[in-house]
Amino acid sequence: MTDQHQAATELTDEQLLRYSRNILLPEVDVAGQLALVNARVLVLGAGGLGSPILLYLAAAGVGHIRLADGDVVDETNLQRQIVHGMNTLGQPKTESARQQLQALNPDVQLECIEQALDEAGIAHWAQGCDAVVIGTDNFSSRYAANRVCKQLGIPLVSGAAIGLSGQVSVFDFRDPASPCFACLYPDGQDEQLNCSSSGVLGPVVGTIGCVQATETLKLLAGFGQSLTGQLLVLDAMDMSWQRFRFHRQPQCPVCG
Ligand SMILES: [Zn+2]
Repeated sequence: MTDQHQAATELTDEQLLRYSRNILLPEVDVAGQLALVNARVLVLGAGGLGSPILLYLAAAGVGHIRLADGDVVDETNLQRQIVHGMNTLGQPKTESARQQLQALNPDVQLECIEQALDEAGIAHWAQGCDAVVIGTDNFSSRYAANRVCKQLGIPLVSGAAIGLSGQVSVFDFRDPASPCFACLYPDGQDEQLNCSSSGVLGPVVGTIGCVQATETLKLLAGFGQSLTGQLLVLDAMDMSWQRFRFHRQPQCPVCG
């Protein structure tokens, strides 16, 4: 925590009750829940990935969530973007998500950034965060978040989904030996294929978002082994998960 907010040193009775199913996990316990309550996370995108990410992080009691998105809620979003509803059509996605998340857990402090962040914006808003989670659908924001997180030493949780497939990886830059997104995708490609131009099945993108939320909670509460150095790939056609390991590239322009 690098800001002016005083970190909580113990959980209130209300929090002990609300988060009891987290706390009953020996891997989380009171100390892990306290870490979640004191954590600050930047979520880029409040769409198909961002919806389950935001809902589960807020439900789990992550104390401070910054969400950035420049879009407004459209009816074609609702097939997969489950944080939004008919009651917020036409509203900024940040505002729509804020209403839903506040209703779910008023304990969470939300900071809404009503724009798609460029690299300078990510660098600004990632300051003081314990993790950055990518819920956007383009490569350029991934490369930008990767450079920022590497520089700031903040873990980056990346996910993507299209059609009936998806993938997740974690870049834990608290560990200087962690490979980065550019080690995995070195070509500087910015493919235009996204959910607005092609189809995607709602629960497929939701599944990827749920894996990202799980990885984020693990990083924040400090348990388990993250997907650092691994790419997890889902193919919903036969519901297969494949795990690929990759390494830091010595010639990588970002971390080499
Ligand atoms: Zn790299």
